[in-house]
Amino acid sequence: MLCQIFSSGLHYNSCLKKVNSVRYEGKIFRPPLEGDSYLLQCTIGCSHNQCTFCGMYKDRRYRMRSLPEIIGDIKMAKVALGRRLLKVFLGDGDAITIETEMLLEILSELSDAFPYLRQVGTYVGPQGTLNKSIDELKQLRTAGLTMTYLGVESGDDQVLEAVRKGAVSSEMLQAGLNIIESGMGLTAMVMLGLGGRGEGSKAHALATAEMINEMKPHNIGILTTVPVENTSLFRQVEKGKFQLLDAYETLEEMKILFENITIENLGIDGTHVSNFLPMMGRMQKDKQKLIDQIDNVLKNKNTDLMGVPYIGRF
Ligand code: SF4
Repeated sequence: MLCQIFSSGLHYNSCLKKVNSVRYEGKIFRPPLEGDSYLLQCTIGCSHNQCTFCGMYKDRRYRMRSLPEIIGDIKMAKVALGRRLLKVFLGDGDAITIETEMLLEILSELSDAFPYLRQVGTYVGPQGTLNKSIDELKQLRTAGLTMTYLGVESGDDQVLEAVRKGAVSSEMLQAGLNIIESGMGLTAMVMLGLGGRGEGSKAHALATAEMINEMKPHNIGILTTVPVENTSLFRQVEKGKFQLLDAYETLEEMKILFENITIENLGIDGTHVSNFLPMMGRMQKDKQKLIDQIDNVLKNKNTDLMGVPYIGRF
């Protein structure tokens, strides 16, 4: 996943400041849809931490926090937030790597502390997910882990290899299918522009649409490739070894993606701050409307509709 909206240490609830410490380590990242969740840091960093475009956890070495530490945080959050908390997000990059037994304990502590809890979410990496059996995933779902965010990025093996995603497309697909089978919610995150310009862009869009059609996630989260300082991709862009799409090329790619997604009842969330043209809708119901919006901008070169702060940002 590209940098999601992030929060530094004491982001979520300023009321947590009342209770001594929330013990966040480093910047805390979360998906846009988790803006109203209590962020419970269960691991520090990402177990993979090699994607060329990602700078989220480059400043820290991956480790799991201990169960007593995590339970201590839950108790502090209960004091600060009360029992009526509705949503929790487990950080950092892929809390699914935690042993199933420990995750079940965390989920049990959460449901004891917050009886009104209706969603616990987490990022999931492909390998961390595949390391769990379907039965384990189902146990986690039953215990309350109901929402997952999988950084699919692309359905194109060449792209996945080039960005060092740590999984080939068949593994990514299987990870997504396992999550769906477990009954958890799945948002698949994809990155426009990750295949570079020209034919690479088209191949990336087509393969990504195919992956989404096979995986059948509940939602896709669309982001745009932005070179983040101190990442390998940033250096490639500086050296001219990776060609970023311009705003209109990015929209052309998004159009190809939408045109080739054929599954029903798929939520589209393209409101991430990295995107040139914020979009939201549901396939197939809103397909033509979304494509018309793109065409309108492409035809009229109408920049008024686009995210002005992001035009010419490179
Ligand atoms: S899997 Fe890749 S994109 Fe996701 S947090 Fe880790 S390094 Fe970043």
